Amino acid sequence: MYHTQSPEEYDVVIMGAGFVGVCQARHLLLNIPNIKIALIDPRPEERTQKDLKLGESMVEVAALFVGKELGLYDYMTENHPPKYGLNFHWAKDPTKTETTDDYYHIWNNRQTLLASFQMNRAKFERDLLKMNKAMGAVFYPGRVVDVDLTPGDAIKTVKVKVEDSYLELRAKHVIDGAGRKFIIGKKTDNLLFGAENLFGVDTGSAWVRVKNVDRTIFHNGYDPNGATCSHYYGTNHWFGHGHWLWMIPTEKDSKEISIGISQHRSAIPDNQINTQEKFYAFLKANHKILYWLVMSGENVDFHYLPRISHTSKTFFSPDNWYVLGDAACIFDPFYSLGTTMIAFAIESVTEIVRAKLAGEPDAERKRAAYNEFNLTYTRINNHLIKEHDKQLGNASIMSWRIYQDYMWWFGVIVPMYAGKWHLDLDFIPRYVKGVQTNLNGYSEHLCQQFSELVAQGKNIGFMDCYRADQLLGNYHPLEHFDNFVENTKLEPRRCNIFACMKYTSFYTAIWYALFLWKGFGFGLLKPRNLYYLFYHLNNAIQCAIGEIIYKRFTKDLPANSQIAKMRQEFTTYRHQPQLQKWIENVEVSVGKEFNRSVVGANDQRS
Ligand SMILES: Cc1cc2nc3c(=O)[nH]c(=O)nc-3n(C[C@H](O)[C@H](O)[C@H](O)COP(=O)(O)OP(=O)(O)OC[C@H]3O[C@@H](n4cnc5c(N)ncnc54)[C@H](O)[C@@H]3O)c2cc1C
Repeated sequence: MYHTQSPEEYDVVIMGAGFVGVCQARHLLLNIPNIKIALIDPRPEERTQKDLKLGESMVEVAALFVGKELGLYDYMTENHPPKYGLNFHWAKDPTKTETTDDYYHIWNNRQTLLASFQMNRAKFERDLLKMNKAMGAVFYPGRVVDVDLTPGDAIKTVKVKVEDSYLELRAKHVIDGAGRKFIIGKKTDNLLFGAENLFGVDTGSAWVRVKNVDRTIFHNGYDPNGATCSHYYGTNHWFGHGHWLWMIPTEKDSKEISIGISQHRSAIPDNQINTQEKFYAFLKANHKILYWLVMSGENVDFHYLPRISHTSKTFFSPDNWYVLGDAACIFDPFYSLGTTMIAFAIESVTEIVRAKLAGEPDAERKRAAYNEFNLTYTRINNHLIKEHDKQLGNASIMSWRIYQDYMWWFGVIVPMYAGKWHLDLDFIPRYVKGVQTNLNGYSEHLCQQFSELVAQGKNIGFMDCYRADQLLGNYHPLEHFDNFVENTKLEPRRCNIFACMKYTSFYTAIWYALFLWKGFGFGLLKPRNLYYLFYHLNNAIQCAIGEIIYKRFTKDLPANSQIAKMRQEFTTYRHQPQLQKWIENVEVSVGKEFNRSVVGANDQRS
């Protein structure tokens, strides 16, 4: 018999307890004292093999978010595999793919300055749900069947089916973290599908999880002259025409890996890859090393997702609803940016909710600015995949493309995140405008040039994004241009983003000049190319001016206030060469402690 129970009131109701749901709940609980949160998910709390999900690899921003903002460094270290950057492989000859020797490689050759993680998603979600409950979140093991999205600050009602009963949960703020069920997206006509809305990206994906693999088929771990870190614990990307494959270790003890393909439909139709047999046959024909690897272990699961990409018109609505994670957007798993987009979005939502609950006057301004920022940042990630269908298989062009993507990732995005510039109301409009100009102009032009060179079959050399011996001086794309890691400039605005953007723009100009020279020779001098060269140099100058202003306004701010406080306290430090007495107290104090613990235990029992 169905019956509706009386409504429960919360500050925030989160629909879905996947990565988004459990991380958002923890972030809200850590940042807003006494907040009342409900989490809803039909999956059992004890997740099983059936609940294995994608999103098993993090990069620096997501790792900073999970480790630092959610306080989970110890948990991640103890429970999930480490990560050593991204490796990229292209077959020298597509008919011969038996061993790593048959591939050209960009190996991550060291531990990057900021460590990252791989993860077993079922385990992560199970453990975080428990932590959230222990911190006071209420979990409903049920399915959202409807949500009443009232306008503005009016209370919303979320209808949940738990076993045979219906419940109504009421809250001012409702978050859709229910992934591809698109609870709010469908209700509000908020979703955008189709290549025409996604810079032409049209991909599907097939993947397997396999345990107890013989990883020596991939690499035996011995590469004394090649790297100062593991190859296996990187996220390995394998390329070919119209596709790339990921290989991610998701469990240390059971030697479990996730291997999957992102297939561009223009090159590989759905019906050629949509079963496990076809997927394995594809591996056997095109990446035999991966075929041997999956055959060496026990298959755990297989999935096929015909349509990966979508986005949304609005992420954070003035009506206090929010779409995050897969419910909001995903373009392609290249570079593992899903959890990074989620990190930016979660911090934005927490700040909007905090400001709105506190009745702060700029709360709506924050909502509008953060919505713009997140839409813009995700558009960059969408553009990163543009024309991949033509370019992925070309080792030369892709190595240049990856090099430039790395320049902006480490040069700007990571420092921007670390300095909390994505929450800064003065910075956001300038950033959004700059990105829009860039996407419509330079990025578009460059993408066409990449495709032109692919069509010509030109070899313009191989760029290794980890090395410091290819561009100018000792430059390498992993440089941040501010010592925010060394000097823990982790509070808002402490990291000098203007210096980061200035140098990244300057080196991009150098990179672009070299690329034009290698790709087009004297074609470098075409007006459009020169225009974009000066565009980068001009950006560097603008950022230099921004840096002068920034330094003026922040000159009295310490790099880190905890350190400044400790240094202040230390001014009264005096060395005290003394020990406190202990020998005469040994038996007495141990006896007392013992008595106290016995009495305490007896009290509890009675
Ligand atoms: C092929 C592929 C590979 C990817 N690889 C990566 C990667 O390596 N790294 C990365 O960062 N990102 C990756 N991503 C992106 C990844 O999907 C996201 O980063 C992330 O997993 C999204 O998490 P989520 O919480 O939004 O969704 P989910 O993890 O799907 O969680 C949604 C939750 O909502 C629940 N739910 C469903 N319906 C309801 C309902 N009616 N009521 C209540 N709850 C409901 C579900 O049970 C589920 O637990 C990949 C994506 C794809 C498509």
